[in-house]
Amino acid sequence: MDCLFCKIASDEIPATIVAKNDLAVAFDDINPQAPTHVLIIPTTHHDNVAELSAADPLALQALFSLAAEIAAERGLNGYRTVFNTGAEAGQSVFHAHLHLLGGRALQWPPG
Ligand code: AMP
Ligand code: ZN
Repeated sequence: MDCLFCKIASDEIPATIVAKNDLAVAFDDINPQAPTHVLIIPTTHHDNVAELSAADPLALQALFSLAAEIAAERGLNGYRTVFNTGAEAGQSVFHAHLHLLGGRALQWPPG
């Protein structure tokens, strides 16, 4: 399968890795929308978070654990965690990924 994030998870394509655990890898988003904009992905391929949740709930939990660790390490006062699911919601890479955004005041509702 030709998947950009599988290639980042297996070090075939470079990324700025910020953290890892047994089930997940975190790296800087190439087009950051906030001072902290990290993507956290499972090392195994699932098209979106619904599929990940059904197939591997421990990996889903690992994404949130890593998000909390990174936020604590950076001393973020608040942060947002987002999964875009489906093209209409803005998903452009079809390997499940959790966006971790922080380091500035974030607006609500999102666009
Ligand atoms: P989404 O639109 O929710 O699917 O998010 C995909 C994210 O991946 C976007 O925020 C992109 O900026 C980011 N992205 C795309 N290619 C890369 C890459 N090679 N390295 C890091 N982030 C990337
Ligand atoms: Zn993949």
